[in-house]
Amino acid sequence: MKPMYINGEWVKSSDGETITVFNPATEEVFDTVPNGSAEDAMKAIEAARIAFQEWRWVTALERAEMLQQAAGKLRDHYDEVVELLTLEQGKAISENEEETEWVIGTLEYYAGLARNYRGRVVPPADRSQFNFVMKEPYGVAACIVPFNYPLLLMIWKVAPALAAGNTVIIKPSDHTPLSTLRLAEIVFDHFPAGVVNVLTGHGDRVGDVLVEHPDVPVIAFTGSTAIGQRIASLGAKRVKRLHLELGGKDPFVIAPDADVESAAEAVAYAALLNAGQVCTSTERIYVPQEMGGAFTGALVDFVRSVRLGPGIERTTDMGPMAAPAYREKVADHVAEAKANGARVLTGGKNSDKFERGWFYEPTVLVDVKHSMKIMREETFGPTMPIMTYRNFDEAIALCNDSDYGLGACIRTNDARLAKRFFEEVQAGTIWINDPLTDNYAGPFGGMKMSGNARELGEEGLESFMETKHVHWDFDDGIKDYWYPY
Ligand code: NAD
Repeated sequence: MKPMYINGEWVKSSDGETITVFNPATEEVFDTVPNGSAEDAMKAIEAARIAFQEWRWVTALERAEMLQQAAGKLRDHYDEVVELLTLEQGKAISENEEETEWVIGTLEYYAGLARNYRGRVVPPADRSQFNFVMKEPYGVAACIVPFNYPLLLMIWKVAPALAAGNTVIIKPSDHTPLSTLRLAEIVFDHFPAGVVNVLTGHGDRVGDVLVEHPDVPVIAFTGSTAIGQRIASLGAKRVKRLHLELGGKDPFVIAPDADVESAAEAVAYAALLNAGQVCTSTERIYVPQEMGGAFTGALVDFVRSVRLGPGIERTTDMGPMAAPAYREKVADHVAEAKANGARVLTGGKNSDKFERGWFYEPTVLVDVKHSMKIMREETFGPTMPIMTYRNFDEAIALCNDSDYGLGACIRTNDARLAKRFFEEVQAGTIWINDPLTDNYAGPFGGMKMSGNARELGEEGLESFMETKHVHWDFDDGIKDYWYPY
């Protein structure tokens, strides 16, 4: 068993409960971790609260150096971390290399940004006065992370939170806690005890304690909209700072001028990366009516060439789904679509290529309607439902006909269509021609029910900083606007 990391110590759950972690490619038990209790959550909060009293006064320069050091340590353990990530999460090893590069890059980015900014000076109302806006850390930040990018989504919170002077409690997913625990051991071990804590445990055992406790002013959550709603309602009792990065149902529009073959490859990448388990996965595809047949044919041909397999094998393009429940949800959405008239052109079932492993075949569907679950609810799997549109107004209306607003993609070289798309589509990120590419300096987050926060960029650092306005008058005389009037 791999213990959890609280106050610089490696500990079991107070009641001895454990969580089993599986390898999704083989369904074999990979390891176990503690199923933390409410008591363990309280211990982590207390450790982080006490550590904050010192950590908040560590200079930004020193904090930046420590983040930089963490990036260097991860570089030293790169291959080991990539392998661990692949075995517990399932996606292709090259995608885990990319994830690990992102973790290193994010640490370096916030190490740089943190020493640059602590507020601003604003013009005073009187010559004797001086006004400034100070940015301060909040205190303890709970960072609750999903299974699909265990380290990347963790570091998008933890790097800016630490850079800003907060202490953190990381709550990884039950499916993927091992890589985070390993980072605590080899990458964060030079931080003072209690500054970085990793609390493993079921959400319903430790989640409410973190969200409701008065000593945790910030909850940074990435995960499903349903859990996000629960956190929002519980956190509201104490008017907590809630950063919610939630689900998506991203559209991909093929414009009339797009090249069919390259558009098909772009869509396949955007829909199948991490077996479709990306919050910004393409989950709805809109093609001009006159291009429908050609595009669908090209997509089906290309998708059939995508190589399914264990993520650890270099020849694999797409790995298994991370857990059985996620695969069942995909099967449910496909079954409901078929029952209502959709046709599956390829895939639509668990892969029979492997005896074990939670593999689901890349699936292309046509004759879908906007009322179907596969077009409305987050599927979070390798599905590509295609609808045709008559004109660009309709394409934009279809994109916006969703409760979600995380990302949106288009393939076009027509500048007028691109401009209409980025101005009119309601989404936190717009990708024109190069789907799903992020940028450290570019804020990431959702509109509508996809969330209320932004990670990365200056906005990502601001999220972990409280704002204080200081009004200072150097003239301590009696003011003529005081009593008596
Ligand atoms: P999830 O909501 O089931 O779990 C996310 C985390 O919340 C896990 O660590 C889980 O243990 C914890 N949790 C569960 N119950 C809790 C509770 N009551 N209180 C506090 N924490 C609790 O999500 P998941 O299945 O791990 O991840 C998939 C979801 O994440 C998808 O909906 C996806 O769109 C979303 N996601 C969003 C983004 C984004 O940036 N918007 C990025 C990646 C994933």
